[in-house]
Amino acid sequence: MSGLLHRASEMEELDRYQRGQGDGTSMERNMGNGHNQGSHLQFFGQAKKRINDIFTEMTEYIEETGAFVTETNANGHSILEKETQDTMAGFKEKVHGIKEVLARDHMKVAFFGRTSNGKSTVINAMLRDKILPSGIGHTTHCFIQVEGTDKADGILLTEESDQPKSISSIRQLAHNLSAVKLKENTLLRILWPNSKCQVLKEDVVFVDSPGIDVTPDIDTWIDKFCLDADVFVLVANAESTLMQTEKNFFHKVSARLSKPNIFVLQNRWDVSAMEEDVEEVRKQHMSRNIEFFVDELKVLDRKEAENRVYFVSARETLACRLHQDKGTPTPTGILQEGFQIRMFEFANFEREFQQCISKSAVKTKFEQHADRGKSIISDIRQIMEEAYSKSIEIKDNQLLTRGENADRLDFLSKQLCLLTSEVKDKIKSMVEEVERKVSSALNDEIRRLSLLVEEFDRPFHHDPMMLAIYKKDLHRFVEATLCRNMACRCTSAIGRRLDVVQSFLEDRLLSILPEERKQQIFNVPKRDFEIAYRLDCRNLCADFQEDIHFKFSLGPTALMQRFLGAKGARAALFGTAGALGQPIAPPSESHSPLSQQDEIVASLLSTFVSLSSRSTLGVVVIAGVGIKAAGWKVIGVTAALYGLLYLYERLTWTTKARERAFKQQYVEYASSKLRLIVDLTSSNCSHQVQQELSSTFAQLCHQADVSKEQLKEEIKELDNAITKLKDVSAKAKTLRNKADWLDTELNSFVSKFLKQTLL
Ligand code: GDP
Repeated sequence: MSGLLHRASEMEELDRYQRGQGDGTSMERNMGNGHNQGSHLQFFGQAKKRINDIFTEMTEYIEETGAFVTETNANGHSILEKETQDTMAGFKEKVHGIKEVLARDHMKVAFFGRTSNGKSTVINAMLRDKILPSGIGHTTHCFIQVEGTDKADGILLTEESDQPKSISSIRQLAHNLSAVKLKENTLLRILWPNSKCQVLKEDVVFVDSPGIDVTPDIDTWIDKFCLDADVFVLVANAESTLMQTEKNFFHKVSARLSKPNIFVLQNRWDVSAMEEDVEEVRKQHMSRNIEFFVDELKVLDRKEAENRVYFVSARETLACRLHQDKGTPTPTGILQEGFQIRMFEFANFEREFQQCISKSAVKTKFEQHADRGKSIISDIRQIMEEAYSKSIEIKDNQLLTRGENADRLDFLSKQLCLLTSEVKDKIKSMVEEVERKVSSALNDEIRRLSLLVEEFDRPFHHDPMMLAIYKKDLHRFVEATLCRNMACRCTSAIGRRLDVVQSFLEDRLLSILPEERKQQIFNVPKRDFEIAYRLDCRNLCADFQEDIHFKFSLGPTALMQRFLGAKGARAALFGTAGALGQPIAPPSESHSPLSQQDEIVASLLSTFVSLSSRSTLGVVVIAGVGIKAAGWKVIGVTAALYGLLYLYERLTWTTKARERAFKQQYVEYASSKLRLIVDLTSSNCSHQVQQELSSTFAQLCHQADVSKEQLKEEIKELDNAITKLKDVSAKAKTLRNKADWLDTELNSFVSKFLKQTLL
């Protein structure tokens, strides 16, 4: 009677609770009504989102570092090993794989127990809906996984087909009594709308299994469906004790997973409500279960184990929750006395389970991801650190080389400048020396010209035609002999001096050229240099006009020429106005000075010639005057002597005499002409030497210029390389720091989600 009254009061409180009139009593706090279920489960969701974000950042980071490594390797710097590119590709693949696993990661709870212990009912009660088929007998025939979906309606997926099926077909497919039987280790997936179930929304996946007492193939089950489960719930029948099959199952699980999270639900506890010694039975179940976890499986300590065993009635909880959600009162026939306590127990189990599964799932699912992420980041950091330090090292070396090259270039430029002015002086003095030498040699030759002409032994003939050929040959002979003599006097001496100067140039250049270019100096071809004197006698003496007609030495013209010079005589003879009308000009300094007496005689002769050339009358007058003055005898003797002298001279005017006269005239003429070109010839020769030396110096300097250009080019290349290396080191540093930042992110994830204890 008292039992009935007590149940009536429980019903009243339950009704108040269901109608939302609860006054904050323990029932409201403890019974998970679906609104506070997410609090612990959200921990997993938060962790999943956080680690997903970190891995998304890692993916971008690896893309960036991969591109950096490829670019750095492409630039040809030996900063990173060629294999680093492959290593980076490996990291990219790994992170991609982790991201894929992360997207699939969820909290998985697997329900096990003997047939009809109420596994499906427990799941339904937790989901607050009759999703899974349940009933008496061997009800669930295969594995059924219930997971959330964002779709509005639930669907069923089988392993055999991608075609979604309606949820109503679950009874047919999964029920043991169904005509269409699936294999025991087949998985059916129910995708239930998240909007209808908070637990599923938080990423919890429920797996219902066929009874462990009906299948011999438990190992395959465990391998296929249990290895990734975060929590195992053994739904036991409180009416009987823990069976060996159930213990065996957990021994197998424990052998595969080091410390599985196991909960035991002593279901159907409502049936015990009628019993007298219910507390005794409960204690016995409790101690045996704890003994099993602590002593046999060794997965929990005693205190922990006490929170893993719950005495519940899934049927009552389900019924109550269904009515509660519909807002209808639970029919009294379903609930047994003390149902409130069993529902508290169920809610306590759920709270404990949520805490355990979220913590465990975060650890099992994300800890290894975080560790792998940290290891990848650490490896990449090391690569970036290596790239940074190596690029700095190479850059410093390049800077050193650049400095050395710049110094060498500066040294070369300055030395070349000094050498150029030194060489200019050398060339100038050499040129002056050559000029002096050639000038002196040519003057000597001019002085010796008569001897040279004398050597010309070609037969002379005064016939104009023959004489023209004679002259031509004489020009050629004089020119050739002069050039030969000049060459003998100057060429070898100048050549020796040239060699000395050229060796000096080579030595000086060798002293300033870099080692690798020195050999090039010896490769500069030596040119045969000979001075060309260019004494063109033929043109020079083209105007030479010989005078080889007989001239009596005491003839009037000769006398005139003797005393007046050729010009004065001509003037007197041809009667130019100046010669007649004016007194005869005194002879110039260059001619031999005339004595006083000579001047008087010249004056007389001038008058005489002037008169005689005008008329015969003049001759007669002179004759008259002479006769009158000296007498006829003297005149006769003088005339005889004069005649004899004339005769003598006329007879000795032979070809030989003509040749002598010709050569003498030629020597005088050629000497005067050659004297005119002494300066020209010497400066021409010195110019040739100057040209030769300048061109030798230019050739040698070319090697220095090549060296300078090479150094400039090297400096330019080094500058480019240094700029690139600076970019590489800056980028490597940034990426290394980014690795540190990602490591910090992972560490904060670890401390926030993996080391934190859930309250
Ligand atoms: P499963 O085979 O382990 O999935 O068991 P089911 O969930 O299908 O349940 C088998 C039978 O036991 C069903 O008829 C349920 O109504 C019943 N049942 C489940 N839980 C309880 C409970 O807590 N108390 C009672 N009295 N019956 C229950």
